[in-house]
Amino acid sequence: MYHLPVLKNRRTLLERAEKFISDIYFTDCNLRGRLYGDSCPLESLACFLTPKRITFTEASKQIFDPCKVGDTFGPTWWTCWFKATLKIPESWRGKEVHLLWESDGEAMVWRDEQPVQGLTKEGEKTSYILSECLQDEEPHSLTLYVEMACNGLFGAGQGSQIAAPDPNRKFSVQRAELVVFNRDVRELLTDFEMLVDIVKELGEEEQRGYQALFTVNEMVNLCDPSDPSSFAKVHSLAGTFFNQRNGESQHTVHAMGHCHIDSAWLWPYEETIRKCGRSWVTVIRLMEKNPEFVFTCSQAQQFQWVKSWYPGLFSSIQHYVKKGQFIPVGGTWVEMDGNLPSGESMVRQFLEGQRFFNKEFGRYCKEFWLPDTFGYSAQLPQIMQGCGISNFLTQKLSWNLINTFPHNTFFWEGLDGSTVLTHFPPGNSYEMKGKVEDLVKTLKNNKDKGRANHSAALFGFGDGGGGPTQLMLDRLRLVQDTNGLPKVQMSTPDELFTRLQADSALLCTWAGELFLELHNGTYTTQAQIKRGNRQCETLLHDIEIASSLALYRNNTFPYPAEKLQELWRLLLLNQFHDVIPGSCIEMVVEDALKYYEDIRSGGAALLRDACEALVAKGSSVAVFNSLPWERLEVVQIQEGAEKSGLALVRASSIGVSPVKDTPPVTPVSVTVQADGTVVMENGLLKTAINRDGTLASLYLISGNRESISDGCLGNQFVMFDDVPLYWDAWDVMDYHLQTRKPVAEVVQPVHVVSSGGLRGSVSFTLRISDKSTITQEIIMDAMCPYIKFSTEVQWAESHKFLKVEFPVRVRSPNATYEIQFGHLQRPTHRNTSWDWARFEVWGHKWADLSEHNFGVSLLNDCKYGYSVHKNTMTLSLLRAPKAPDATADMGIHHFTYAIMPHTRSFQEASVIQCAYNLNFPLRLIQCSPDTMPWSAFSVTSQAVVLETIKQAEDRGGVLIVRLYESHGSSVTATLRTTLPVREAWVCDLLEKQDPNRPVQVTSEGITLDFKPFQIVSLLLIM
Ligand SMILES: [Zn+2]
Repeated sequence: MYHLPVLKNRRTLLERAEKFISDIYFTDCNLRGRLYGDSCPLESLACFLTPKRITFTEASKQIFDPCKVGDTFGPTWWTCWFKATLKIPESWRGKEVHLLWESDGEAMVWRDEQPVQGLTKEGEKTSYILSECLQDEEPHSLTLYVEMACNGLFGAGQGSQIAAPDPNRKFSVQRAELVVFNRDVRELLTDFEMLVDIVKELGEEEQRGYQALFTVNEMVNLCDPSDPSSFAKVHSLAGTFFNQRNGESQHTVHAMGHCHIDSAWLWPYEETIRKCGRSWVTVIRLMEKNPEFVFTCSQAQQFQWVKSWYPGLFSSIQHYVKKGQFIPVGGTWVEMDGNLPSGESMVRQFLEGQRFFNKEFGRYCKEFWLPDTFGYSAQLPQIMQGCGISNFLTQKLSWNLINTFPHNTFFWEGLDGSTVLTHFPPGNSYEMKGKVEDLVKTLKNNKDKGRANHSAALFGFGDGGGGPTQLMLDRLRLVQDTNGLPKVQMSTPDELFTRLQADSALLCTWAGELFLELHNGTYTTQAQIKRGNRQCETLLHDIEIASSLALYRNNTFPYPAEKLQELWRLLLLNQFHDVIPGSCIEMVVEDALKYYEDIRSGGAALLRDACEALVAKGSSVAVFNSLPWERLEVVQIQEGAEKSGLALVRASSIGVSPVKDTPPVTPVSVTVQADGTVVMENGLLKTAINRDGTLASLYLISGNRESISDGCLGNQFVMFDDVPLYWDAWDVMDYHLQTRKPVAEVVQPVHVVSSGGLRGSVSFTLRISDKSTITQEIIMDAMCPYIKFSTEVQWAESHKFLKVEFPVRVRSPNATYEIQFGHLQRPTHRNTSWDWARFEVWGHKWADLSEHNFGVSLLNDCKYGYSVHKNTMTLSLLRAPKAPDATADMGIHHFTYAIMPHTRSFQEASVIQCAYNLNFPLRLIQCSPDTMPWSAFSVTSQAVVLETIKQAEDRGGVLIVRLYESHGSSVTATLRTTLPVREAWVCDLLEKQDPNRPVQVTSEGITLDFKPFQIVSLLLIM
């Protein structure tokens, strides 16, 4: 069938075909030049600008001034509303007619007061289809509105994508006109494009590529762009090639439409609402035309936004969810960071998410969906399983800088042994375009060849939204079963995982965390956000416990369920994977900090109300302890109280205790030595503090052990140059470790602040640079087994990293770090590339380095970045990246860390409890003088932490208590309570009662067996 002669010149034939569909070259005579037919200008175009994101109703009432194509609008983040009147020429009868709109600001078309089409040039969406085949009875004259945001798909970075936004950018409308769209040309172009790509992707090694080459060359021979009657033959030639089928063993790609929308990143939360609107209305338009099209969509918060901002669109989404095309996935409130949120926060992500999906769509998600997050906690498999989820999809570990993760489809085993079937789409992307390249990559990259014969391919513009296009769907449709390419089917996550599960006998298992070897700076960047998260997690914990107790101390107390849900949702939103990691622009930081303020102020009122309901009013002071163990602590009591305002208070577990100043067994002594060093001692610890605040010695009296390494200093501040390769706010690179410089310049040497008794403390000030200083108070409290370092830093650096070091007298190949509901070990050596890739790691409230019978723990109240190399324990304090927020971390910071040497293991030494104590201060309550100590709950085993007490969702008279085994041991523990519990049942993390697992309530309490790191939730029916 080929014209002879065809010379053996692959390059000329390939480039000939490329030029035939080029949008740059030879468009006067090639096929691409025929994509559009006649065009016609708009009848009129007018606009008005607003700094706010307003509703259509409000916008349509404004006065619009005439404007024209080519005009510019701004500044950045404003919105320009356009009113366009148009008249379709009568002569276009039978043609497909589009409104062609090209602007560099993201736009939405409104028609009849409804959003109808998202238009984003960067997302290859520039057409609103007015008619597929113009009929006489269709309206020819129309008024449309176009809402154009003065930001692009990726915000408005000045110079580079992740640079801080340019606040004064102007956005233009480059084209706005009516055009005739030649659908037959589009289809033929897709045939050509796919064949050209097959030639390129299969390369010179495979004969199938040559078959594509000769097919496409013959198609050029046969195709006359000026004569559409030649198209059918050309199209059928392509069809013959595409329809040559694969053998039975070929790999199957499960194509799923997707649109990753960062809930805030290079644009603020408010813009995300519109991104969802633009992206999802476009998806609905595609679904109307493509009944096989499946779209996966995560993040309950985004659905909630669309529900309140675009109720009409939300109804359409509900319709297509019912049809099985629009598929809510993930089960969480937002796609949260996988490292930093607390265990309870992780549970709440699922609880809020799954409940939302069930309420709005009548279904729970069966898969956890987190393609773009910076590492995954080892406790996630257990949390997923507890929330009805057994499958997990991500791809981010393909970003590892050092080691290649060895699997694409595998079982992931968590800290407690729970496993989930996990899939990383081998194409290493969540925003494919349905191109040949995507399919070939999916096939070739699969690291489980022979073990897993199914893979996912997520297609659609992402990060800034956008989503799939008709062209992507057309591409995939062409090559459903084309010999040489994997089979492609439109699919759902459920279908994919069912297939993977059915044939999983050969799959490998990965145990422990999925650590991302990149973006390690995100444990530290934007310290105020980290602090807000930790403090608000603590506050909500306390409010829920106090409110739960108040229900049974005061029968008129209303549990503030609605308000708590509102505050939790704000906290969960800020845990989004570009907000809590600190990889967002300044506007997002401002919003996030405002939400933390809302939680703090709203939460303070709730906590006060609940605490007041726990006691009778009066002029005395009591403390509320939200932790499930008795505490003996020095607390700062209110003004007007006796002496220094301090008291040593014994607080009963989860309950209220009146403040009665207990004299300490050993008071703190503070001695200033002749050389200016200060020695403090409290009977447990003895420390010598140098003039510059470093610790010359930290002596554990009971163990007869020095903690600080020979010839070294504890509490040593160190600065590093912190210049990553690209991702500024995200990355700290291994080479920064070579730039270590101690902070040595003393502005004010150590001087005594509290002279002993209940508290000894000293203060000092160091100069970091001309602009930055550290002022610190080192505090030793009576009866307290750790020393606190209450720190204020004035920080105005650029690309520097501040840390504090404790070189300790401990030798161990592993250090231990607290994670969600447990802890794990990471190496302190750098034997292999997997070890040294973890030069900067994350942990929660504490890290510990122990040898047999002795160890040192480093505790903190709002930090997450650690490293322990050999015997030096380091806590990461502050960074100073300049992109995407040029002002990141500038200003004053407050944080506290603590050092705790101990004998025996950290478990036996109560390090876990001490870290809780540091983070959950005893809360003061005004009460009557006859208030008696009272405890609501306690647990007999120190290994078991009672983490959460809350009212069950939608069930008054029922409490949820959540406990976990924290030592990594198998234990039996009894939960004791003074509350009137009638019945108890085991439930899952979604609070679903397990009808087969009633729990006996005896006069002793509720006795439960725990496996290492097991989380157990109970429903207590009162
Ligand atoms: Zn993302």
